[in-house]
Amino acid sequence: MITNLSASLYRESGPSALIIGGGVIGAASAYELGKAGYACTVLDKGGWSREASTAAAGMLGAQVEIHQAGPFYELCRASLGMYRNWTSELEASGGISAQYIAEGIVRAAMTDEDEAELLSRLPWMQDAEWMTAEELLRIESELSPAIRGGLYLPADHQVHPHWLAKSLKAAILRQGCVIREWTPATRLLTDCAGRVIGAATPEHELHADVVILAAGAWSSPLTEPLGLKLPMFPVKGQCISVRTDMPLISSTVFTKGCYIVPKSDGTSIIGASQQQVGFDKRATAAVIAELHEKAAALLPRIADAEFVDTWTGLRPGTEDGLPFIGKWEQAPGLIVATGHYRNGILLAPVTGRLVAQLAQGLATELDLAPFAPSRTLTAPHQDQEHPLPL
Ligand SMILES: Cc1cc2nc3c(=O)[nH]c(=O)nc-3n(C[C@H](O)[C@H](O)[C@H](O)COP(=O)(O)OP(=O)(O)OC[C@H]3O[C@@H](n4cnc5c(N)ncnc54)[C@H](O)[C@@H]3O)c2cc1C
Repeated sequence: MITNLSASLYRESGPSALIIGGGVIGAASAYELGKAGYACTVLDKGGWSREASTAAAGMLGAQVEIHQAGPFYELCRASLGMYRNWTSELEASGGISAQYIAEGIVRAAMTDEDEAELLSRLPWMQDAEWMTAEELLRIESELSPAIRGGLYLPADHQVHPHWLAKSLKAAILRQGCVIREWTPATRLLTDCAGRVIGAATPEHELHADVVILAAGAWSSPLTEPLGLKLPMFPVKGQCISVRTDMPLISSTVFTKGCYIVPKSDGTSIIGASQQQVGFDKRATAAVIAELHEKAAALLPRIADAEFVDTWTGLRPGTEDGLPFIGKWEQAPGLIVATGHYRNGILLAPVTGRLVAQLAQGLATELDLAPFAPSRTLTAPHQDQEHPLPL
């Protein structure tokens, strides 16, 4: 039976927002909208944050992940600049820490070609220093002596994605947000003028003043019936976690095709593959073995670490590697916030804030034209270090 649940059920006055997707992007949007006075409802087709957002390694890689100056780099830097205070604010509000760790990233080169590519980034990078192999080994003594040198990125910190998801959930519940797990949005609802006024679920029609589409790799089918095709695809990432008796590294260490992120519980996350295999989430032995081999080439003693776990996640990939953040003229009432590909953990705070600015009709703090959902996609993929598929 379909029933109509009006936003006014949740709050007698004030605007309402319906957020489709309870990953880090939907949750950050709900948090910022809640701060702006919106009564929020978040729908998720599954349990809380069980897709890409908790498969992530948690790097805030505003320097390490970006390969050219431009609007995307500025977006990443803006989000990184917010992160520490944002996670403190979440913790103060909901009582759960996202486990922000203020240690940087060592981006080590293992080949001449990689070294040349990293050196070519230095002129436009803001917080990067080139170090010789000897200098890097003074910072991280367990790195392989085979490294050629690399970038030291002191501001690229990290969080723990599982704790970030819990921290966001606690903070938005504290604001009064309603979370409906196991409740898929099956279609967007429009009025006769084409305005998006809510979403249907198998049991209800939910109405709100503004609808945020933050369904990660599953976003596109919801906009297609409205004539907006978001050129998106899932990019599977596989990870391993291991435990060592003593920490081998304090910084995240990263080389072409592999990174190792040390966590405060004594485990290290080794990631991550990139495969375009549709919505297949199986972990495969060959990829896990390859990741382990690459990790041991970078940090030899990790070969003897205790195996803890393996998992996969589906990154919301886009053709040009840029996210979709913005309104769409033909469907007022809808704000799209998806396609964050490899950087959704990093980009959560700024995306949430931009969504709240868009919802309120305010000028956004950054020009969103490069991220417009309706942009014509002709640009090559931004992520040249990890061309698809792996
Ligand atoms: C292995 C791996 C490592 C990564 N490492 C990093 C990293 O170190 N740093 C970084 O910044 N990023 C990293 N990322 C990328 C980051 O995880 C993603 O960019 C980010 O999680 C995207 O968040 P999201 O909320 O858009 O998507 P998701 O987390 O996938 O959330 C989307 C949610 O929408 C829900 N949903 C889908 N369809 C519907 C529907 N119809 N109705 C209701 N709900 C729906 C889903 O169930 C899901 O919970 C990594 C990703 C992977 C896979």
